[in-house]
Amino acid sequence: NAVVELTGVHKAYDLGEGRRVVALRGVDLTVGEGEFVAVTGPSGSGKSTLLAIAGLLTRPSAGEVRVDGQRVDELDDDARASLRNHAFGYLFPFAALWPSLTALENVLLPRVLAGTRTTDDATRALALLEEVGVAHLADRLPHQMSAGEQRRVALARALANRPRVLMADEPTANLDTDTAERVIERLARLPEEGTAVVAVTHDPHLAARADRVVRMVAGCVEAEG
Ligand code: ADP
Ligand code: ADP
Repeated sequence: NAVVELTGVHKAYDLGEGRRVVALRGVDLTVGEGEFVAVTGPSGSGKSTLLAIAGLLTRPSAGEVRVDGQRVDELDDDARASLRNHAFGYLFPFAALWPSLTALENVLLPRVLAGTRTTDDATRALALLEEVGVAHLADRLPHQMSAGEQRRVALARALANRPRVLMADEPTANLDTDTAERVIERLARLPEEGTAVVAVTHDPHLAARADRVVRMVAGCVEAEG
C-alpha cells in the first residue's frame, strides 16, 4: 500500500524575466506504508524539491501526487495544510524550535495545531523526549540547549502526531557522532511503528538502514537499490 505516490512529477522554479530552473524532470516515486526510503544524489539534483513536493510543502508544475491513493496536488491550501498537520512530520537540518516555548511545549505544539490534543499528551511528549535522551531538558527553552539537543527535540516534535510519513532533510547533518547515531536509531524504529520515512541524506550510516536508496541525478531518479 502506497502512502505517498508521485507520478511524472516535474517542477520548474520561475526566476522572473522568463527564466526558469527545472528541478525535477518526470519523477516517479512510491513510498510504501512503513517504508524507509533514503534519497541521495549530488547537490542541485532535486532532492529537497522532491521532499518538499512529496511532503505537500510545494506543488508540482506537472504530474500527480497521491497520499493514501487520493490526489492531493490539486487540493486547496487549507486541505493541504490540514494533511500536513495530520499525516506528515518534518525534520529539517536545523531545529526550527519555537524560541519562546520550552522543549516540552514545542513537542506539544503539533497536537495543538492539529486540534488533536488529549489529556495524556504531556506524558506522551515526555516519552518522545525520553526516546531521544532529552527528557531531562523538558523545561528548557531552545536557547538553553545545545544545537544537538535542539535537533533531538525537533525529532520528538516531528513524531508528536504519529505521522504516516516523516519527511527528513539531512537529519544527521552537523550532528556529533553520538547524536547522529541516536537520530538514526530512532528513525530506523519508525517503520515498525507504522511511520514511513523519506530521508534526504549524504550519510552512509543512515542510508545503510533504509529499505531502499533512491539516487537523484539532474532532476531524475537515476537508480534504486
Ligand atoms: P538538492 O536538494 O539535490 O540540492 P534542490 O531541490 O534544492 O536540489 O534544487 C534543485 C534545483 O532547483 C537546483 O538547480 C536549485 O538551484 C533549484 N532551486 C531549488 N529551490 C529553488 C527556488 N526556490 N528557486 C529557484 N530555484 C530553486
Ligand atoms: P503555506 O504557505 O503553503 O501554508 P507554510 O510556509 O505556512 O506553507 O508552511 C507549510 C507547512 O510546512 C506548515 O504547516 C508546517 O507544518 C510545515 N513547515 C514549514 N516549515 C517548517 C519548519 N521550519 N518547521 C516545521 N514545520 C515546517
